Amino acid sequence: MADSEITLLDIAQEIRTCNKCVLASSRKNAVPGEGPPQAEIMLIGEGPGFYENEQGRPFVGQAGKYLDELLNLAGLKRENVYITNVVKCRPPGNRDPQEEELIACRDYLDHQIALINPLIIVTLGRFSMARYFHDAKISLVHGRYTWVNGQMIIPMYHPAAGLHQPALKSAIEKDFSQLPGFIEKARLMKISNATESQKSPAKNPEEDATQLNLF
Ligand code: URA
Ligand code: SF4
Repeated sequence: MADSEITLLDIAQEIRTCNKCVLASSRKNAVPGEGPPQAEIMLIGEGPGFYENEQGRPFVGQAGKYLDELLNLAGLKRENVYITNVVKCRPPGNRDPQEEELIACRDYLDHQIALINPLIIVTLGRFSMARYFHDAKISLVHGRYTWVNGQMIIPMYHPAAGLHQPALKSAIEKDFSQLPGFIEKARLMKISNATESQKSPAKNPEEDATQLNLF
């Protein structure tokens, strides 16, 4: 199948039968992710836990209930955002995903992000933050946005961190309640970029790159 014809459903199907890392052998159900294919906002967690592995759906356990509350604080509904994880199969006993598992699973997430092309990506926890910020400390960067390749990336604490360390809850809730302002900012930026490129098509970065290659 040509790459351009691959859909989110094809990726999900591939994930469900994937054997690229050891997590395949202990999973009950892989958890590809869910949400609208054109979602403006994508949330990326760590990996399935017990209930996610049972049901094949992301964030359906305790952390998921808390995530629903957090989304509510941001004026968002779960069905309007795309939710997935950096690894699609449950690490046994909810241990951290290992480097080789993250690497093996990476293409799926890359592909999902490329197809959905969200304006905003919220990373939940250290492992999804590390996709964008290698040596960042989550305690320093949580709740602040950075633009990466035209996408607004906002690292947040993992909801489970708030359940395990109640002292973090107020920071987590504050970060989520700031999301509507960030969304507004990202939308305005998108509109102004679109207007700019209409005014001066040569500002297209690909064309700039081509021009540079001429010298
Ligand atoms: N924690 C995660 O990181 N992802 C889930 O899907 C559930 C819990
Ligand atoms: Fe495949 Fe990812 Fe599951 Fe590993 S975690 S088996 S790479 S889908």
